Amino acid sequence: QEVLQVKKAGDFHYNIFFEKSFEKLSEKLNALNKKGRKICIVTDSNVAPLYLDAVEKELKKTDFIYTSYVLPAGEANKNLKEIEGIYEHLIVNHFDRGDLLAALGGGVVGDMTGFTAATYLRGIDFVQIPTTLLAQVDSSIGGKTGVDFGQYKNMVGAFHQPLFVYANVQVLKTLPETEFISGMGEVVKHGFIRSKDYSQWLLDHKQEITERQPAICQEMIYKSCVIKKTVVENDPLEHGERAVLNFGHTIGHAVEKLKDFSLHHGHCVAIGCAAAAYLSLKKGFLSKEEYMQVLTELNAFHLPVKVSGLSCEDILMTTKSDKKMDKGHIRFILLQGCGNAVIDTSLSDEDLTEAITEIC
Ligand code: NAD
Ligand code: ZN
Repeated sequence: QEVLQVKKAGDFHYNIFFEKSFEKLSEKLNALNKKGRKICIVTDSNVAPLYLDAVEKELKKTDFIYTSYVLPAGEANKNLKEIEGIYEHLIVNHFDRGDLLAALGGGVVGDMTGFTAATYLRGIDFVQIPTTLLAQVDSSIGGKTGVDFGQYKNMVGAFHQPLFVYANVQVLKTLPETEFISGMGEVVKHGFIRSKDYSQWLLDHKQEITERQPAICQEMIYKSCVIKKTVVENDPLEHGERAVLNFGHTIGHAVEKLKDFSLHHGHCVAIGCAAAAYLSLKKGFLSKEEYMQVLTELNAFHLPVKVSGLSCEDILMTTKSDKKMDKGHIRFILLQGCGNAVIDTSLSDEDLTEAITEIC
């Protein structure tokens, strides 16, 4: 008797609801069967004046006892100090194990609320109500939560899955233009890594998407979520395949860091996609025509394919100091044909320098 096996929690799954208002939120919350429980809506100072009333109106139709907590908006506040503020609010309001949190906001609110839920009393439940395009297609799905630590992005965190994700496409109306474009960076990435058809569909509906027509945006969000969910389902803890979601992120992160986060995440990812597509061309994985298609699609959604004011050497150094190394070689996501991302560890410094020159 030297070994005893302990099973991990089995067959857990959750739903993403695609809606055009908040009207079904009460129904989804009631279906959780948490009668008389408490819920804390965590949101930020930009989203609260826009949507907190509408969400509270839904909560009035449920048996939940609700409170809200408003974080100061922005990545600069995604830190442990602000998390302490949420913990205090939960303690003062006697939140216990069976109570839950709701994240109403973009990726910052989602990551922070998820992290609070993962750690408060060793873990309580939470739901995601994402309000940015980036959060609706990316950060609210997959269970990654966390905060920044000093200058290090997402350094402290946990995997913690929501009970459901409720994406109301109407809230995208109030999203500032650059935030919408930033979200499009992740959307076009989804096409590049997994579906040529989706990339074509995006180009075919460029006009409606740019105008943020709700029906088309909802379809787009659905299609993107199908791709993200399929990838994370196959690899929930990022041991392998999930890495393909990092397409464009290796050089993208370096640019983001060197620009002191003054450029939006999706814009940096787009620049990184352009560089990774160039590397794929150089390796013979993409034809010249396919490479041009990638650049055309990024341009179509007003995403940048070049960055100004940075030196090639700095981008190379920062890219290499990133954590995605595999036995001394940088682990890179390339395209083996449009719609098919692969993991590659064969790139040399010369290859990288050439690709970085291409985006400078
Ligand atoms: P964000 O949460 O800062 O939101 C962007 C801005 O839009 C903020 O000022 C916010 O207040 C405002 N806003 C939100 N919804 C609005 C609306 N409907 N109308 C008007 N304004 C609105 O940023 P983001 O781009 O949503 O998310 C970025 C964060 O997500 C980063 O911290 C990143 O690390 C994280 N992220 C996490 C994952 C993950 O898997 N967990 C994936 C990608 C990104
Ligand atoms: Zn990203």
